[in-house]
Amino acid sequence: MWQADAQSQVVVDLDAIRANVRTLRSSTPAQVMAVVKADGYGHGMVPAARAALSGGATWLGVCTLDEALGLRDAGLTAPVLAWLWLPGQPVGRAIGCDVDLSVAGLSQLAAVIAGAREAGRAARIHLKIDTGLSRGGAVAPEWPQLAESAGKAQADGYVEVIGVWSHFACADAPGHETVDRQLAGFTDALDVAKRLGVEPQLRHLANSAATLTRPDTHFDLVRPGIATYGLSPLDDPAVRATLRPAMTAHARVLLSKRVPAGQGVSYGHTYVTQRESTVALVPLGYGDGVPRHASSAGPVQLNGARYTVAGRVCMDQFVIDVGDAEVAEGDEVVLFGPGDGGEPTADDWAQAAGTINYEIVTRFGSTRVPRVYRGDAA
Ligand SMILES: *Cc1c(COP(=O)(O)O)cnc(C)c1O
Repeated sequence: MWQADAQSQVVVDLDAIRANVRTLRSSTPAQVMAVVKADGYGHGMVPAARAALSGGATWLGVCTLDEALGLRDAGLTAPVLAWLWLPGQPVGRAIGCDVDLSVAGLSQLAAVIAGAREAGRAARIHLKIDTGLSRGGAVAPEWPQLAESAGKAQADGYVEVIGVWSHFACADAPGHETVDRQLAGFTDALDVAKRLGVEPQLRHLANSAATLTRPDTHFDLVRPGIATYGLSPLDDPAVRATLRPAMTAHARVLLSKRVPAGQGVSYGHTYVTQRESTVALVPLGYGDGVPRHASSAGPVQLNGARYTVAGRVCMDQFVIDVGDAEVAEGDEVVLFGPGDGGEPTADDWAQAAGTINYEIVTRFGSTRVPRVYRGDAA
C-alpha cells in the first residue's frame, strides 16, 4: 500500500465511494448527482467521479466551469452541472461540451444566451431559486421575471430549462424549522414557473443531509457530496454506520529520540514533557492539510496505540510524545481512516480542530501529500 519512498500519503478507497453511492441510490427513487467539486472533496475529482458513476450516480455536480471542463477533458460523458461561474468565463465552450449551467439571475441568463449563440446550440440550464440560504439563487420577488425570461429564451431556442433547484441552509439539523420553510418556498417556485410555462424534468434540492433524512425533499434528483465520500453531515451514529469513509491519511515516523523531563516541544513550547520521554516526529503539517487548530489535540494511531499531537502543528511536521513506547523510524502513524482498525476518523480530527469533517478531507487531499488509490478504478 505504501508507495516506495513516500513519507506520507493519502489512500482513497474507490470501492468505498462506489458502495456509498450504491447505498444512497438504493434509498431513493430519485437520481443521484455525485458532487465532486473541490477535487472530489480532496479524494481526486476524476477517480471519485468514475467510482460514483459505477456505483449508480447518473449526474456529476461541480462548482466551476474549470472543474466541469476537467471532467469532460478526462473523457467523462455523464451529465454535469456547474453552479458557480461568472459571465465572461468560457460559457460558450462549456455549452459546447454539454455542461449544464446553473442560472440565478438575468445577467447569467444573458451570458448563457450569448454562449449558446457562440456554441451554435441551446444551453442546458438549471434555474436556481434562493429559498432561504441567501447564497446563490434568485430571491422570490425576482423569480417570476427570471422564470419568464428563461421560458422566452427556451421558446427562442437559446436554452433548454432542464432543472429548477435550490440548496438547504440547515438540513444537517433535521427538524430545523428552515427545512420545511425552504421546502415550501421551493414548491411555490415550481408552481410559479409552471404557471409561466416552465416545467423542468429535474427538480432538485437535497444535499447529503436531506438525502439521508428527508425523503420528501428528494424530488427527481439528490445531490450528495460528503456522503459520497463516506462521511456524515449528521451526528447520528446510525447514519454514520451506513457509510464507509473513503480516505485514510498516514505517515511514517521520521525520527524518534529520548528527551528529558521538563522539555518544551515544538514552536512556542506549549507542550512540556512531564518525564523523560520518547518523542516521534511525524512529517505532516498544515502545509499538508493537518489543521494547526489541532495543536495538542489531534489524535493518531501508532503501533496499535493512540497518541495526541504534542504542542504546535508546524507547516511540515508535528511531534507526538509516546512515553516509553518503542518506536522506530519508518513506523506507520495513522491520522485518520475508516476507524475499523481502531484508528481515529476524520470526525475525530474535525472535533479536535473545531471544524467539520468536510474541511479535514478536502484540505488533506489538495496538498503535496501523494494520493494513492485502492479498489476497482472502474
Ligand atoms: C456542495 C454542495 C452540495 C453537496 O453538499 P453535501 O453537504 O456535501 O452533501 C450540494 N449542492 C450544492 C449546491 C453544493 O454547493
